[in-house]
Amino acid sequence: MSKNDIYPFENLPLPSGNAAYEPYIDAQTMHFHHDRHLQTYTDDLNAAIEQNPHLKQYALAELIRRADELPQPLNNTVRNNAGGVFNHRFYFEQLSKTADVQPSKALSAVIVENFGSFDELESRLKKAALSVFGSGYAWLVADGDSLEIVTTANQDVPSGCPLLNIDVWEHAYYIKHRNLRGDYIDDLLRIIDWNVVEARLNDGRVILR
Ligand code: MN
Repeated sequence: MSKNDIYPFENLPLPSGNAAYEPYIDAQTMHFHHDRHLQTYTDDLNAAIEQNPHLKQYALAELIRRADELPQPLNNTVRNNAGGVFNHRFYFEQLSKTADVQPSKALSAVIVENFGSFDELESRLKKAALSVFGSGYAWLVADGDSLEIVTTANQDVPSGCPLLNIDVWEHAYYIKHRNLRGDYIDDLLRIIDWNVVEARLNDGRVILR
């Protein structure tokens, strides 16, 4: 279990600061997204656990896995806020300060095997992210030996081992990109750290549901 993976959860500052992803994602968007929205998910998760101390023993992924066994409205509260904390930490962690990081030879081979080409993977990720109606995510996941692209609503998590996510809640892009979700997706794909994606594929796969 990694540090800060259990109650009380803390929203740690982004290691490179909010301006590190300019001009693709602007500092103001990062401020509201990380320091405000993720803070709220973190605070609301901690508050729910404070009121239900039997949950204090569970790590973040275990809270997500157990949410559906809880009575309502706690079920929804844990599902939305533990999911919100996981999904956002996952999103920010995969961002690179340097644009156009290329996948390694090994990861490229896996991508070509599954999608034909890197361009085709990006194109399919974008199409999936554009297809989300309302708030949610597009994901690249590993399902056994194959890679898949899926979408989820709200703060739900996907089946399989998540490798990459694209947050398409309007709070992720509306300050800079306004209603142009496609332009935001293009910019986000420029700053994906494919070394992080590769590590998620190879090191200790996480299965959330
Ligand atoms: Mn978000």
